[in-house]
Amino acid sequence: MNGSVRFDDIRALLVSHIDNAGISRVKVLPHRRLLSASTHGATISHSAGLLFSVDDHLNATDALDPVVGDLRGIADLSALAVLDAEAGLAWAPADLYSLDGTAHPACPRTALRRVVDDAADARFEFRVGFELECTVFRGATDAAASVVDPRRTEAHPEPATSGPGYSTRAVLEAEAFAFAALAALEVAGVPVDQMHPEFGPGQLEFAFAPRDPITAVDQLALARIVLTRVANAHGLRVSFAPVPIAGGATNGCHVHLSATRDGRNVFAPDAPGPHGVGADGGRMIAGILDRLDETVALLGGSVLSFTRLRPHTWAGAHVCWGPANREAAIRYLRGQAGHGAEQANIEVKPTDGAANPYLAVAAILAAAVDGVVRDAAPPEPVTVDPSTLTVAERRAAGIRSLPADLGAALQALDASAFSRGVLGDVLVDAYVATRRHEWEAYGALDAAAVADVVRWRY
Ligand code: GLU
Ligand code: MG
Repeated sequence: MNGSVRFDDIRALLVSHIDNAGISRVKVLPHRRLLSASTHGATISHSAGLLFSVDDHLNATDALDPVVGDLRGIADLSALAVLDAEAGLAWAPADLYSLDGTAHPACPRTALRRVVDDAADARFEFRVGFELECTVFRGATDAAASVVDPRRTEAHPEPATSGPGYSTRAVLEAEAFAFAALAALEVAGVPVDQMHPEFGPGQLEFAFAPRDPITAVDQLALARIVLTRVANAHGLRVSFAPVPIAGGATNGCHVHLSATRDGRNVFAPDAPGPHGVGADGGRMIAGILDRLDETVALLGGSVLSFTRLRPHTWAGAHVCWGPANREAAIRYLRGQAGHGAEQANIEVKPTDGAANPYLAVAAILAAAVDGVVRDAAPPEPVTVDPSTLTVAERRAAGIRSLPADLGAALQALDASAFSRGVLGDVLVDAYVATRRHEWEAYGALDAAAVADVVRWRY
């Protein structure tokens, strides 16, 4: 177990899963239920498991009745982590099971595990490292009691730092929170590789070391819980929403992807492959780019995800790749001179905090392997900001834009035989239903109004 608390000292266990709206939903088990957490788990309704939208609107699909039917959330105690040793508070991720004892066809964690296992059968091993961006606001909180009062949400929430971007000054403004967060993440077993203030007021980024894909996503979910707790304890509020403040800097959740085949880094530079990246690495880049239109709804999935995915946000809105290119959907990192064989990786930038990260990573990995299976050829790497090219130049270079909004992205996902093949119809239908409600309810509003709805949901 991560952190230092004895099993006997755990007084409460948070068992959480991430639903199709990208929201962490939870059951809390007291001490006497700990042993059965991983066998019997906790009852979860179809609604809380799979069918709520970001605003808790309840949806239905052909396979999933919102009112009738139950799931079990089975805790994976191999991922148990300490949230608060003194209080005896621990956390574990849940897999969603049907009552017949089999993994539920819409369980996102199981879907990712299946993709990872299939890749292993093809002798590929992946490592994933997240860059988690968030915005810290001054809170409507009673700091002494460490309690957030949701009724006191400000009309104009105020970021906790004022900049300049990436500055020492900005991090010092949020020093108490930032350093308590690092310590709490360490205790929870999610050590941070690097933290820095991002471009926008109140923005911080926490970068995590690469892990196997399931562990990486589990730890991302855990890190968000830890950061939310630490913010609350400091009288602050944290948002992982893609657009925390309309018109301001956006929050991404970029996915660094490493891959080896038979122990060799497929992205190693100067390998005998096209464009100075290994042959399988190039096929993976092509695979991910080829599938981006039909999978991008899984990489974000909020109305605001598409407000974020615009040129000049460094969110990778252009469907292309390039070495160190921050405006390309895939940024290729060669690694330091002489260390490329260990360090080279790709960064998939369109992902954000509104995604279900199990599904986002499943889509990325499956598209990468599919690129290898199809022997897909990567386009020429792009070495300039694509916005500086003319429309004709972009077209000649094969650079496309992503679907313009959530509605178009959901249509592409709904029609995607590839995504349905990877994730299954029960899952894709539930995902599309929850996100389609968001599009229909909020798609026509301006970003400021949507940000007010979404800010404190992530
Ligand atoms: N905040 C940007 C985003 O929404 C990313 C900035 C960066 O390159 O780290 O993805
Ligand atoms: Mg960043």
